[in-house]
Amino acid sequence: MTLFEPVKILIEKSALDLPYAQKLLRYFSETPVQEVDEIQQTKKTLHDYFSKNVLLITDYKGDIIKRCPGTRGALCCNYYVANIINGCPFYCTYCILHDYINCGSVMICANTEKFFDELRAKTREKFLLRLGTGELADSLALEPFVHLNDELLPGLKECKNVVLELKTKSAFVDSILKYDVADKVVVGWSVNPQNIIDTDEYKSASLKQRIEAARIMVQNGYKVTFHFDPIILVPDWQEQYRAVIRMLRDSIPGEQVAWLSLGGLRFTASLRKIIQDRFKKSDILSYGEFVPCPDGKLRYFRPVRVNMYRFMLKEIMAWNRSIPVYLCMESQQVWKQVFGSLPLERSALAHVYTPYPDTDLHEE
Ligand code: SF4
Repeated sequence: MTLFEPVKILIEKSALDLPYAQKLLRYFSETPVQEVDEIQQTKKTLHDYFSKNVLLITDYKGDIIKRCPGTRGALCCNYYVANIINGCPFYCTYCILHDYINCGSVMICANTEKFFDELRAKTREKFLLRLGTGELADSLALEPFVHLNDELLPGLKECKNVVLELKTKSAFVDSILKYDVADKVVVGWSVNPQNIIDTDEYKSASLKQRIEAARIMVQNGYKVTFHFDPIILVPDWQEQYRAVIRMLRDSIPGEQVAWLSLGGLRFTASLRKIIQDRFKKSDILSYGEFVPCPDGKLRYFRPVRVNMYRFMLKEIMAWNRSIPVYLCMESQQVWKQVFGSLPLERSALAHVYTPYPDTDLHEE
């Protein structure tokens, strides 16, 4: 059984003539295909995990590129997301997709020309648009099957003032190396200690595989990013996370890290119930107490989070002091307690937090 082997394809009739849709049908030429009028209507009938093996191909009519929604009470990090793929073949216990996408299948927007039209309209002279494809998907997990990089990267070369972050828990970087896009693409890895990967990030690449893929990208002139997110306070978390940072230090020169984010475990009440019901062997909910925050999500107590971030920051600075570190979905108060200042006051974050014309670095 491969990582992704759809048992059925549902394709929107209006997508049938799109070039990328035609390619997808060729990539999965053995898979039965059904044409449907409206994917969004069909999705409502695909509620459970067992429908994960359905591939939906759509001619998406809404905005593909959006400002990252952030979360209430947290500082916005000025990021944009392109939701070309929704859904993921990996299976992390804490994944917000269990809660957000009411459908276990994978959906691909085949109208990539629309993506480029939107991108051209969004980019502005003198402002760098930071864009990621990993909000509702892992950016590279499906790459060996759907070859999305072949659709995006050649066109991206012609676009100005944009950097595309491909965030992943895979090691599928080969297709990026076919293109000369080191000035337009950074590849980012979510990292956690291997024992957390074993228990809570099913089917994803091992820590060693992720670091080796990052090393290959660096060797080929690319900048990389890392995301300690979610940090999970397992009993010996300090030793475990210190060991991960040292593994990174031994393989990746700090100067090649474009940015690095930190975020503690967080979840909605409904996701907590999903974790309790579906992942009975996972212990992540038993490590520490969780309190409700202004955005409705549950997090570790603030002093616990501040202590956790300070520890991580100290270890990362021991690796390389020039790495731009930011917090994901945290308040001004936490920022000040961890860094002593806000992102705009920190020159190391200038390229991450440059205000974009139609965004503010505000507290949502
Ligand atoms: S890799 Fe990301 S998108 Fe995929 S299951 Fe894990 S958390 Fe969710």
